[in-house]
Amino acid sequence: MSVTTITLLGSTGSIGRSTLDVVRDDPRRFRVAALGAGGNDLDTLERQVREFSPRRVAVAGEAAAEELSRRLGRRRPEVAAGPDAIAALAADNSSDCLVNAIVGAAGLGSTLAAIGAVKRICLANKESLVAAGTVVMDRIEREGTELIPIDSEHSALHQCLDGRKREGIARLVLTASGGPFRKLSAASIASASVGDALAHPTWKMGRKISIDSATLMNKGLEVIEAMHLFRFPADRIDVVIHPESVIHSMVEFNDGSILAQLGETDMRHPVRYALSYPERMSARGSFDLTAMGPLTFEAVDKKRFPCLAIALDAARKGGTAPAVMNAANEVAVGAFLEETIPFGAIPTIIRDTLGVVPFIESPTLDDLLGADLAARAEADRRVKNGVEEEAVRRRKG
Ligand code: MG
Repeated sequence: MSVTTITLLGSTGSIGRSTLDVVRDDPRRFRVAALGAGGNDLDTLERQVREFSPRRVAVAGEAAAEELSRRLGRRRPEVAAGPDAIAALAADNSSDCLVNAIVGAAGLGSTLAAIGAVKRICLANKESLVAAGTVVMDRIEREGTELIPIDSEHSALHQCLDGRKREGIARLVLTASGGPFRKLSAASIASASVGDALAHPTWKMGRKISIDSATLMNKGLEVIEAMHLFRFPADRIDVVIHPESVIHSMVEFNDGSILAQLGETDMRHPVRYALSYPERMSARGSFDLTAMGPLTFEAVDKKRFPCLAIALDAARKGGTAPAVMNAANEVAVGAFLEETIPFGAIPTIIRDTLGVVPFIESPTLDDLLGADLAARAEADRRVKNGVEEEAVRRRKG
């Protein structure tokens, strides 16, 4: 068995740590060549560098890079700082595989940098495909780089679609747990706290994706991700609420037959699949179906979860709409996590931003990056205005 060398970006986050668990389980098969991280969890990054001995490390901030170098002392790897340094790791063609687990559209540069440089990109950064799916997929095809999703739904679809003829497929069905607010009224959802929104019922995930799961924006982003990844029209990608999160997604064929992929809610499974495809690595333990209880399904309620409706509209509209929506969502989710806006303001900010930033139907990469920046500025302005209006209302009230 030959050794696969891995560049892992976003190493201290939830997917990054799952990836290193998989590597730790099979050190003869994998070697970590480089680690990239935001740098806000230096303790974890330091531990990872000491354990996996990468040749290169990149951290988003200058100060964090200096602190890490100081802590690692003389026998340290090359440590670089800045977003360009992280993308430079992605472009290093001495690695076989990039695992991109950066959060948000900030991960797009690394996805693009890796195309044509590494053999395989294992993609957890769904925002790369939401913000610039057409550009990414065109380059993937041109360069012949493999792109295997780590998102659990898309890993499920990849497994169900593997080797099957496209003409025979009727629709893709993404399952959604429904998030922590599945049973709440629209009014209770609008005033939910950060703590409520972070309490996901079935998955343990990072903060940004947990909020996206509470608004169901995550499922909207995943429809757009599936559209690009599998070159499939948005109107034939459906979403069904499946609170038990046992079925990770399904493919329905023209003859009415459905293939589903089932498994534990543990991201090490899709990571293992993405790293070892088309082989299968062994994992400990077996999945006990009898312990699962009944599996249930519900229709989605787009009225109580307007972010999903906004995302599906953006998916159909195409052009710069998904990039603008994604950027506005990142700003709004960030403001909610800092407790500067209420949960109910997230869809309003996204919708208003989409209404203001000029739409381009067939954007270039520069157009998409420009739309992303314009949307961030616009959404930021709306966050600040909302905060001021609230202060005025309180003074009067
Ligand atoms: Mg997912």
